[in-house]
Amino acid sequence: MKLVFATHNQHKFKEIKALMPDYIELLSLDDIGCKNEIEETGETIDQNAVLKVQHVNDNYNYNCFADDTGLEIDELGNEPGVYSARYAGQEKNDEANIQKALKNLEGKTNRNARFKTVIALIINDQETLFTGICSGKITTQKKGKKGFGYDPIFQPDDFNKTFAEMTQAEKNKISHRGKAMKQLLDYLSK
Ligand code: IMP
Repeated sequence: MKLVFATHNQHKFKEIKALMPDYIELLSLDDIGCKNEIEETGETIDQNAVLKVQHVNDNYNYNCFADDTGLEIDELGNEPGVYSARYAGQEKNDEANIQKALKNLEGKTNRNARFKTVIALIINDQETLFTGICSGKITTQKKGKKGFGYDPIFQPDDFNKTFAEMTQAEKNKISHRGKAMKQLLDYLSK
């Protein structure tokens, strides 16, 4: 079965392709001639994942899945949430996003936060959602050099280090994206 992963990110694509069951031929947006960035105009993480998957299903008529992720910080009313990539401005600057989150949490004792990944899947017009959550805390300063995004300031529960101090394999085991992907793979492997 042909299945589209609605991403232009080749790194993400290769990683997921390697995990797919044999009967699935995974295609990227580039493979199906979808060159544009699909606009993420939803007000929630769920809505954005659904929006992307429906765009591909409606316009290209492929079975498809799409993911969307956000960081929800309790003390900031679950911000940056759906705006995680552009928290400090349209240019999607990781360092500026981190500094804004740290500044907004200055002096706050409740630093609880969670990453949430939603994967929306459409197969034969039937839609299914998978959600992966990783809870933790926002540190008071950056720690570690690995990863991307908010990794240097996110310390998952039960760990003494941030995502940016973990190897990719360590992070995958406990991460929001890893958990949501596992649900998708279990579903596709049934
Ligand atoms: P996306 O939906 O996967 O593109 O993620 C949106 C934004 O959330 C990214 O631009 C990052 O700022 C942040 N983000 C997503 N996943 C992670 C992660 O695993 N670690 C740190 N930041 C992340």
